[in-house]
Amino acid sequence: MLPFSPPHIDQLIIDEVIDTLKSGWITTGPKTKRFEKEITAYCGNKASLCLNSATAGLEIMLRWFGVGPGDEVILPAYTYSATANVVMHCGAKPVFVDVCSDFNICHVEVLKAINSNTKVIMPVDFAGYPCNYEQLNLMVKSPEIKSLFKPNNNIQEQLGRILILSDAAHSFGAWYQGKRAGSLTDVSVFSFHAVKNLTTAEGGAIALNLPEPFNNEEIYKYLCVKTLHGQNKDALAKTIPGNWRYDIIEAGYKMNMTDIMASIGLVELSRYDQETLPLRKKIYDAYTAALSKYDWAIIPEYENHEKTSSYHLYALRIKGITEAQRDAIIAKIFEKQVSVNVHFIPVPMMSFYINQGYNINNYPQTKAQYENEISLPVWIDMTNEQVNLVIEAVQSSVREVI
Ligand SMILES: *Cc1c(COP(=O)(O)O)cnc(C)c1O
Repeated sequence: MLPFSPPHIDQLIIDEVIDTLKSGWITTGPKTKRFEKEITAYCGNKASLCLNSATAGLEIMLRWFGVGPGDEVILPAYTYSATANVVMHCGAKPVFVDVCSDFNICHVEVLKAINSNTKVIMPVDFAGYPCNYEQLNLMVKSPEIKSLFKPNNNIQEQLGRILILSDAAHSFGAWYQGKRAGSLTDVSVFSFHAVKNLTTAEGGAIALNLPEPFNNEEIYKYLCVKTLHGQNKDALAKTIPGNWRYDIIEAGYKMNMTDIMASIGLVELSRYDQETLPLRKKIYDAYTAALSKYDWAIIPEYENHEKTSSYHLYALRIKGITEAQRDAIIAKIFEKQVSVNVHFIPVPMMSFYINQGYNINNYPQTKAQYENEISLPVWIDMTNEQVNLVIEAVQSSVREVI
């Protein structure tokens, strides 16, 4: 069976992990700090904090901003449930809005959803294709929208508007208007989960890029404490002789990245631009060249005059089919020993969210795109033969069903 997205683990990664294991320092330490600096240099943002997941990063930023009961957070219905779950964790209300044909949050829908309870907008760079941040950034800064904003703490007062917290789980390395994901809005959060473009097995990073008068370096230091029990000294600082005493300044969380994880990430990052992205693009282009011949194929958008994807998911759609036909096509593709996927089952279709009163019929574009979507495998060790096997399996399975 051709897998959907196996990790690429080679000798360079193994050597770097072994180096960490033998170094005497396996939890958060020098490699995590180096990885953070390299992420900041790569993305062009102001400071970066590595954590054990993107989910942790999204939640801690909502908590940092003071999001809680009575607050609303706007996010696309078309995303992975983690984006919405963290809003629930904070006791706030997820307000789903519909997406546009590129699977990204639709700014007209965002505008309609904003009210005086709105504290945060969480756009998702679906498949690694950046959202229209220019429009979103301008929207939250516009006088009418700012006048609706009701700050209820010092941080909200200082920002004086809705925070944009980008779920950039897919878009590490993507470009928008000459800038990298991570530097496109206030805060972005990357995922380094095993299936993502750049992995640390599990892991994530917060890319801070807050405007003046915020001091991103100070916020980084505070978040280090907040994500490590609220302890004012981390394990590494405590190794300084005599430096054993510490304090707990708040009931913090436990979300730190280990140096074992960071060592994988350092190797992944060192070859990301030269190897990973071009190899992923090549597979995307091969799918596009082969499938755009068919009038049933809706090819995903992954570059235009101002954006370039990180080529995370190839979200093919099949014109005019029902959800049942899509499922039948997927079953046929699997019969041909090829793994495919659906990204995503929209959050309002999940039992928990149905029980909260959400209904997918309120998001017609999301529903329509979900019903005929099939994600094709993209991983850097795929051979040309394997790419062709996928293309052949897809086109023959579509022919058998429709
Ligand atoms: C993977 C993913 C997440 C969660 O990332 P973790 O690092 O596993 O917490 C969040 N949002 C989206 C859109 C994702 O695909």
